[in-house]
Amino acid sequence: MEPVLVKNFTLPELEAWVESIGERRFRARQLFRNIYARKVRSWGECTDLSKLFRVQLENGTRLDALRLMEKREASDGTLKYLFGLQDGHTVESVLIPDAPRHTLCISSQVGCAFACKFCLTGTLGFKRNLHTAEIVDQVCQVQIDLGIGTRITNLVFMGMGEPLANYDAVIRAISVMTNPNGLAFSHRRITLSTAGLVPGMARLGQDSPVNLAVSLHASDDALRSRIMPINRKYPLESLMQACRRYPVAPRKRITFEYILLDGINDSPEQARSLVKLIRGIRSKVNLIPFNPHPDSEYRRPPDERILAFQEVLQKAQITAIIRQSRGREIGAACGQLAAGYGEDDED
Ligand code: SAH
Repeated sequence: MEPVLVKNFTLPELEAWVESIGERRFRARQLFRNIYARKVRSWGECTDLSKLFRVQLENGTRLDALRLMEKREASDGTLKYLFGLQDGHTVESVLIPDAPRHTLCISSQVGCAFACKFCLTGTLGFKRNLHTAEIVDQVCQVQIDLGIGTRITNLVFMGMGEPLANYDAVIRAISVMTNPNGLAFSHRRITLSTAGLVPGMARLGQDSPVNLAVSLHASDDALRSRIMPINRKYPLESLMQACRRYPVAPRKRITFEYILLDGINDSPEQARSLVKLIRGIRSKVNLIPFNPHPDSEYRRPPDERILAFQEVLQKAQITAIIRQSRGREIGAACGQLAAGYGEDDED
């Protein structure tokens, strides 16, 4: 029989599972604490469980969903992790140290179906959704690698894939991440970034309102549809309405991500139209100068143009931060993740 991958379970599911193999329900909480708080590497380490139960676990379950294949460090301290999945696919996670924070950027899919023109992951197509265990295990394995001296403080779904297109697995992963017996992150320290899947945004707001980031990148439908095909399905009016309705936590704001593409979306008029578009939404804007990747047709605008764009927003009382993407030389920056592609891009 296939071993059961325990990190696929939320706590209530694990409770049902331990009962189904004849153990008491509260054992699930003990298991959760061993897996996520103590981060045991084998069931043998779980001395609070009976010998018999440990043997049952050893024979019938698997603890790891990912295999760490490679780790690279950039000169700015950014770490990129490459993980192998059971079926041979690979995904990447990126740790961005920014004292006192350590933010882990995690992937939700192998590849991506949305084909945003500027994104390397998007140009490579979609392979498959990650399972809950494969999402959660990125956090576990990176934390184990970092050791006890360095704690991951923030999680962002900004790696490979569109998290709202893998809705159920992502929601279940967030449930494990936020469970006090699980990874015990506050919802306030988790951010989900979406290309604008309007129905998923509404569901997320009801099911598990983490911080929301929206990849906007253009302030008119014609341009946004050209660079982000998803806009044809959910144009700006519906997207902005979904943002207005999103239950933003107290003292939090929606983040609008706006890549600056030279000569495409970086003019002062476009900045003014962005101001109009987001007026009245409790939000801030992250300006991300385009990160180049091989074959990309776009360029990063000159610095004066980036600063001029920012100034228009600031004059309109909008918080606008220029994000210097980290880890560019190791291909760890926004839009550069393409784990393992290249060897198998025929299939
Ligand atoms: N699918 C989600 C999650 C990916 S997040 C989303 O679209 O939001 C990755 C972020 O990096 C998004 O804001 C994305 O638009 C941005 N990005 C993609 N390619 C980029 C590039 N080449 N340079 C800078 N940012 C990029």
